[in-house]
Amino acid sequence: MGLKLHNTLTQKIEEFRPREDTVGIYTCGLTVQGPPHVGHIRSAITRDILVRWLEYSGYKVMTLENFTDIDDKIIEKQKELNKDWRIIAEENILKYLKACDILNIKRATFYPRASQHIEEIMELVKKLIDNGFAYEKGGDVYFKVRAFKDYGKLSKKSIDDLVSGARIEPTEHKIDPLDFALWKAAKPGEPYWLSPWGKGRPGWHIECSAMSMHYLGETFDIHTGGEDLIFPHHENEIAQSVAATGKEFVRYWLHNGWVTLGGEKMAKSTGHYFLIEDILKDYSSNVIRLYLLKTQYRNQIEFSKDRLDEAKAAYLRIQTYIHGFEKLPELAEPFMLKEFTEAMDDDINTPMALGIIFDLIKQGYEKESLEIAISVKYYLSVLGFAEDEPDQPINDVIDVLREVKAKLKDKKSELLDFAARDLWSRLETIKSSDKFFSNLVNVLLDIRNQLRKEKNYELADFIRERLARKHIHIFDKEIDVSTFRVDAK
Ligand SMILES: [Zn+2]
Repeated sequence: MGLKLHNTLTQKIEEFRPREDTVGIYTCGLTVQGPPHVGHIRSAITRDILVRWLEYSGYKVMTLENFTDIDDKIIEKQKELNKDWRIIAEENILKYLKACDILNIKRATFYPRASQHIEEIMELVKKLIDNGFAYEKGGDVYFKVRAFKDYGKLSKKSIDDLVSGARIEPTEHKIDPLDFALWKAAKPGEPYWLSPWGKGRPGWHIECSAMSMHYLGETFDIHTGGEDLIFPHHENEIAQSVAATGKEFVRYWLHNGWVTLGGEKMAKSTGHYFLIEDILKDYSSNVIRLYLLKTQYRNQIEFSKDRLDEAKAAYLRIQTYIHGFEKLPELAEPFMLKEFTEAMDDDINTPMALGIIFDLIKQGYEKESLEIAISVKYYLSVLGFAEDEPDQPINDVIDVLREVKAKLKDKKSELLDFAARDLWSRLETIKSSDKFFSNLVNVLLDIRNQLRKEKNYELADFIRERLARKHIHIFDKEIDVSTFRVDAK
């Protein structure tokens, strides 16, 4: 047994065997002409969950995520906003890192930027020219695709397939339409660096080869990124790196599925996207994590508010369960669940792992058990959920429910069982936190009505008094019907 990962290169699920003690991971990050959208966050969460699972499994991990801070799109933005490209890049990098922190996404070990590695990039371009894989023309440098015999191995494209779609733009100087730019001559007014080929700047693909090999070595274990990067970006990364070193470049290629909107890829370039900062206004980071992890990383996710609302309701069920327990003793041990490990070892099957957590919660609602509660908390933290507090009004009602539970415990447990079952069945049907709140209060009202029928006025009054302290007032209409009102703030 052990971790198995799907490798795009072989199209197979393979046993993961790192080459060294420390697993090196490179992730293609943002081109920072704008703030991150949900698609970018999915890539980041894919890396996050992989790193968490590797570390949980005992591996040491070193991670790199680049920022493409110099590129045609950023130069366009500079003209559009009349703002220096460095400031545009910096602002968007900060927005991205802030969103990642809110979403409890583990930071990478390094976040290299293309503009800070021009020297390494130029070295690599020189090496490719020396090795006969690249040529300079008109101040540009191009990679000779036909010179690299394994070209197309990752994306499963043949040179013949590619020829039909390839063309030379009027601004380009390449000889073969298949060739791609390693270095671009600067046009007037564009940012540039001095190079052996004149004033210019790097092409997009070369930065990832230069930076990944600089930090992780010529051969490293895992490269991740969105599936849209397989071709041409990752295909070109392989060509550049192998042509320069003559060595294997990356051993496992992992690609996450798109986030789609109406079936189309969410993308900044088409204006077809939702920014993560807007989604975070309506949904907590744990809800967004639950929403994304409910789908295995390789599959596409259709973005929809309905699905986010479903995740919100599901998350409330988790929250209510966890907060139903007074401080959980740290010393108690969680259950070691073989199925959880098997699910995660099976190409990071997060939907299955989440299913196991929800099964635990269901058992927890049926039977009060500290071990179950501790296990739920433990496995949630393995999946990167942050500990959080429920909304204050909900928290208040849960506090009262907890007190009532403690009092009922000394008496007969049938009523408690009924209350727990009832709570569970009601939580099953909730859709929004508004209804959730009234459902929660209604559970207490029902328990209170039951107590009054049993002539346990002491405990019934206790519930009324405790809720009143939380600004929730009970009105008894008939013998077994009560309503409530919450004081306006
Ligand atoms: Zn890249």
